[in-house]
Amino acid sequence: MIRTRFAPSPTGYMHIGNLRTALYEYLIAKSQGGKFVLRIEDTDRERFVDGATDIIYNTLKLSGIKHDEGPDVGGPYGPYVQSERKNDYLKYALELVEKGEAYYCFCTKERLDSLKSETSGHEQVAKYDRHCLSLSKEEIAQKLADGTPYVIRQKIKDGTTTFHDEVYGDITVPNADLEDQILIKSDGYPTYNFANVIDDHNMHITHVVRGDEYLSSTPKYNLLYDAFGWDIPTYIHLPPVMKDQHSKLSKRNGDASFQDLLEKGYLPEAIINYIALLGWSPSVNCEIFTIDELVEAFDIKGLSKSPAIFDPVKLTWMNGEYIKKLDFDKFYSLAEPVLKASVKTDGIDLKKLASYVQTRIGTINEIADMVDFVDELPKYETSLYVHKKMKTTEEMCLEHLKKAVPVLEGLDEWTNDSIYNALIALIGELGIKNGQMLWPVRTALSGKPTSPCGASELAELLGKEESLKRLNKGIEMLTK
Ligand code: GLU
Repeated sequence: MIRTRFAPSPTGYMHIGNLRTALYEYLIAKSQGGKFVLRIEDTDRERFVDGATDIIYNTLKLSGIKHDEGPDVGGPYGPYVQSERKNDYLKYALELVEKGEAYYCFCTKERLDSLKSETSGHEQVAKYDRHCLSLSKEEIAQKLADGTPYVIRQKIKDGTTTFHDEVYGDITVPNADLEDQILIKSDGYPTYNFANVIDDHNMHITHVVRGDEYLSSTPKYNLLYDAFGWDIPTYIHLPPVMKDQHSKLSKRNGDASFQDLLEKGYLPEAIINYIALLGWSPSVNCEIFTIDELVEAFDIKGLSKSPAIFDPVKLTWMNGEYIKKLDFDKFYSLAEPVLKASVKTDGIDLKKLASYVQTRIGTINEIADMVDFVDELPKYETSLYVHKKMKTTEEMCLEHLKKAVPVLEGLDEWTNDSIYNALIALIGELGIKNGQMLWPVRTALSGKPTSPCGASELAELLGKEESLKRLNKGIEMLTK
């Protein structure tokens, strides 16, 4: 039985790359009838952010990525929050010390810092010099008895480590490149690197899916699995989601997180559909997938090792496709707050307006710009009346508006149908093309190059009085 896990550190926001990882973990498990586990990796207490775990739960819930086990739903291998497992890890570290696969290190921060400056210019790669590896049993016992602060380090053995990754293939590294990493910190907490291995084993995780920034640590994890005599999971490392050719998408650089996208008016379903395709190609020629369809279509073979570029234009297009397909009541519940904030004029049929915009927007927030003409006729240039395809000129528009006004004024019933029929009858009488009348009327009513609906719908929406006012304003502007 395949078991995957999403192991986020609660940072306070959901990075798009992390959400994609969660999605692939879910899809890998569900496409094989397996289980998907949520585990919160909060051992880095300094980075702990209040409320951050709620963001993780909410994101998964909104995205339709349902975990079978996790802190909030329980499961046979809990607790699923690492800080609650804190006391377990030491026992494993001590087992390794016992086996000669790990050792106590009492080095002070000052000593470790001095190691860094000795290798000036390469501070970040300064490896621990194994100073404490040579301590005698007695020295160690004495220091422990004295209460000297310590960490426990992994003892990397000689040789090379080879492993297979489903995306990157076979990788071999010389162990000399690996540091004797810390397993248990001086505060008693495990490091992320240690807790991750212990938990993956204890939670029976078969497939480890994560960002490729962990590829270089994987040999160290494998040495730990070997030291314990445990089975190594299948690895699936994912290339980063990029902002452009050169830089990764990053919240720190102001790129959108999942919450930011929701606030910008994207639908969770569309975001999920879009990010599924960032690094995975379906074998079928299709782009629109519900999460259940993704489960059906998903195959690890479709994962790519080339970084994917996050394209907001494509996401907006896809979001528009999802908005079009929403049933109207659902759409209206999303559109209503934006409409109410944008349209203050009494008596405007917001539902009707919503039905016009539904097929014309990429995001819910675009509605605001689209309906801004309702409260107040925007300032516009008379050149807006000139339309090549409809073969209209300013003079012609002036003439046609002058004919339209008295006809509309005379209407007793002010509905889309009655307005449309009256204009069409007039068009017939004048022997002109539809566009040569409807374009100037639409322009005068909206003052914009595009509007969410045509001339008669606009007139009905704005009401008789306001419509005639705007048409007369058009006449006035065109009269030179
Ligand atoms: N806690 C790690 C992170 O948030 C998880 C890495 C992993 O999946 O192993 O990046």
